[in-house]
Amino acid sequence: MIAYCGQPKLGFHRIQDNIGGHLAPFFSYSDFMIRIYSYLFALLLSLPAYSQTYPDYTELYVNDFADLLNIIQEQAIREDLMELREKRGIEFTVVTVKLMSDYGHFGEIEPFATGLFNYWGIGDALKNDGVMMLVSRYDRKMRIEVGSGYGNNLNAPMKRIIDRTITPIFKNDEYAQGIASGVEAVIYELVGEYPGEIDGSTSQKIRGFLSRALTALKWAIWPIAAGILGLATWLYRRRLRYKKRRCPIDGTKMQLLAEHWDDQHLKDGERIEEDLKSVDYDVWLCPKCEHLTIEAYKAWFTPYSACRSCGFKTLEGTTTVLSSATTSSTGLKRIDYDCHNCSEQYSIKKVIPRVSQSSSSSGGGSSFGGGSSSGGGASGSW
Ligand SMILES: [Zn+2]
Ligand SMILES: [Zn+2]
Repeated sequence: MIAYCGQPKLGFHRIQDNIGGHLAPFFSYSDFMIRIYSYLFALLLSLPAYSQTYPDYTELYVNDFADLLNIIQEQAIREDLMELREKRGIEFTVVTVKLMSDYGHFGEIEPFATGLFNYWGIGDALKNDGVMMLVSRYDRKMRIEVGSGYGNNLNAPMKRIIDRTITPIFKNDEYAQGIASGVEAVIYELVGEYPGEIDGSTSQKIRGFLSRALTALKWAIWPIAAGILGLATWLYRRRLRYKKRRCPIDGTKMQLLAEHWDDQHLKDGERIEEDLKSVDYDVWLCPKCEHLTIEAYKAWFTPYSACRSCGFKTLEGTTTVLSSATTSSTGLKRIDYDCHNCSEQYSIKKVIPRVSQSSSSSGGGSSFGGGSSSGGGASGSW
């Protein structure tokens, strides 16, 4: 087949030979053309297979090509995988890619996973006990591929972990959390102990159990606690803001002017700030001496910043990414500022920091053991 690509004439002759051999009695021009077309079509379909490549690994534990993990998350997962390797000798590796088509692969994840597993040679060469978790972010497909030493024993447990532990979290695009929980579940399935507790003492295991329970509880309780805290803060600020004031001159109780009445006491810039909701103004009036107190309340979350020319919080910035940052180079973005109050207008360019990728070479050995997979494991999508 490869020869056909390079030397089309050779292929053409072989087709003619075939037709001459098999179809000689029925040979017609249209038959011949159909053959040619179906042959070309088959060739076209098979072309991507020739250009398929696999990424090379940069380390044995986490190869986050899709940048789904930050340094801290990546290190936590790496430590779990290192512990498994050091204490049980099992090579378990996590790989993320953006798209399988980036490597010339189209279609299902199974052949790609098996191919990558064997290309890297994950696991012990004799025991074939390696494990690989592969996540293809934009294909929204994943697979846990296991070495041939496990036979079919792990297929059902891995499927259960994918369906119950990992993909429900991936559905919310929370990849770091999904991968971390999945790694923990797979390690427990493999050795019957949780990461951080392999060969640990009983007290260590109790501590681990409590911390896991606490984590689960935290996930459930945190949103409620944050809600209560937010509401309390809001009520407190509201109370301070609308509490009765006395005139600093004659001590009379002041009145808070309604929104449409306070506008005439505000400057143009302040009115625009109110329109943009970047600052809210309260105007208090003393009914006796007409003394005015103007109080400004800055919005907590606003896209507007203070203008360097007029000083009002009416400056809007629009960011355009000129070049994205990669792991090897910084990127560049342009921010165009435009003031809604004055004529101030300017642009600045800012460097986007390089995407960090920690390089860890610790953990004994810098290459996989040469294990292979015959396609065992399980897949899922979200
Ligand atoms: Zn007064
Ligand atoms: Zn301005």
